[in-house]
Amino acid sequence: MSWDFETEPEFQTKLDWMDAFVRAEVEPLDDLFPHDIYPRPMKPAVREIIRPLQQQVRDQELWACHLGPELGGPGYGQLKLALMNEILGRSFWAPTIFGTQAPDTGNAEILAHFGTEEQKAKYLQPLLDGDIVSSYSMTEPQGGADPKVFQTRAVRDGDEWVINGWKFFSSHARWAEFLIVMVVTDPDVPIHSGASMFIVPTDTPGVNIVRNVGLGGEPINEGSHGLVHYENVRVPSDNLLGGEGKGFAAAQVRLGGGRVHHAMRAVGQVQRCLDMLCERALSRYTQGSILADKYSVQSYIADTYAELMSFKMLVLYTAWRIDKVQDYPSVRHDIAAIKVLTPQVLMNAVQRTIQVHGALGVSNELPLSHLWQAAISMGIIDGPTEVHKVTVARQLLKRYKPAEGMWPSEWIPGRIEAAKEKFADYLEHEIANQ
Ligand SMILES: Cc1cc2nc3c(=O)[nH]c(=O)nc-3n(C[C@H](O)[C@H](O)[C@H](O)COP(=O)(O)OP(=O)(O)OC[C@H]3O[C@@H](n4cnc5c(N)ncnc54)[C@H](O)[C@@H]3O)c2cc1C
Repeated sequence: MSWDFETEPEFQTKLDWMDAFVRAEVEPLDDLFPHDIYPRPMKPAVREIIRPLQQQVRDQELWACHLGPELGGPGYGQLKLALMNEILGRSFWAPTIFGTQAPDTGNAEILAHFGTEEQKAKYLQPLLDGDIVSSYSMTEPQGGADPKVFQTRAVRDGDEWVINGWKFFSSHARWAEFLIVMVVTDPDVPIHSGASMFIVPTDTPGVNIVRNVGLGGEPINEGSHGLVHYENVRVPSDNLLGGEGKGFAAAQVRLGGGRVHHAMRAVGQVQRCLDMLCERALSRYTQGSILADKYSVQSYIADTYAELMSFKMLVLYTAWRIDKVQDYPSVRHDIAAIKVLTPQVLMNAVQRTIQVHGALGVSNELPLSHLWQAAISMGIIDGPTEVHKVTVARQLLKRYKPAEGMWPSEWIPGRIEAAKEKFADYLEHEIANQ
């Protein structure tokens, strides 16, 4: 029997080190430099502080843990990664300090899986070393959830490809050294075989970052998500990633991993909300008692704990399944299910935590508004919730077939008839003896 909820002691020591390190060394960066995570080049003071911290992570062999040894990381597998990401999810800076920040993680994964040796040396290595950042450019202004609406085209011209079109919400494009761009290379076949990916250095002539879109509340044009116009952008054939027509398959590898990793970090964020919720419940006194004594607050705590634990179990189970079968497509429905739960569980936790903090909860003096924005984004990023629900349902329905005849298979009168038939000999015997 191998069902077990314990962490092996050796790995628990690593988790304990991570937890103490993130709380003591990394969380202060969230407080001091909340807006300095991505701008590149980094402010010299920030760089000076984070470099030794990143080195400590490397010394512990905890750098870029999302990648297996064959892909340049230490390769702990998804289950251990889930436990690690839960710790990293607490802090905005932690993924950068541990070399697991999106979208670089996903881009590193595609490069590692599909890149040639030259592409790996030129783009993957500096990315893994944390020397550069990258961007993933797939969503278009007219739609992101359905790749069939993509219009950005690449046309072959001798040894080069010429890219034309618009991309939207290309995160970190303004700081990225290169973009991984999904384009249509053959409009006459379905997108699943007609799309390809290219590595496009950001300084290539024709790459125009028209606007830097921000999230709610950020000043206009100061955000980190690029509206990018590719205008006669020429790249050599060598920049094709994974082969012509393989863009969709590569995207699935990238997005499958990314969705699980977002969920793993969200577990840590929900736990952080629960910690804040409980602390506040014990600290605030009103109408004759502390909040912890009010039934409605007890109910917030109980609901948050129950949702957190069931979400966490599904995340760990999915991670375990990925390790077991080593194949994202066959774990698709579980990945889609946790993608559906991520914004829901996080939003519930954030909203309850904001509520018990009153005015302070909605202020900019707690991390809750930021987490609230993150929760909403989780329902959209890497495909909207509605689409993932369809995936869960479709995949599950494959396991079933329609009922035979007019009634459901659980129809009790029919089952009684079947049971009578099964035990006919005994029943006849009993009647005869009466
Ligand atoms: C913070 C953040 C970062 C992002 N980073 C990147 C990035 O780095 N690179 C990148 O390429 N993209 C990025 N995106 C874009 C993201 O992947 C898309 O927003 C997402 O795929 C949805 O596309 P869309 O916004 O065009 O919405 P649409 O596709 O227009 O969908 C809008 C809404 O329509 C509904 N809907 C859509 N399809 C269906 C359906 N089949 N059934 C029922 N309802 C449906 C849903 O309510 C959905 O939210 C990012 C988004 C966010 C919020």
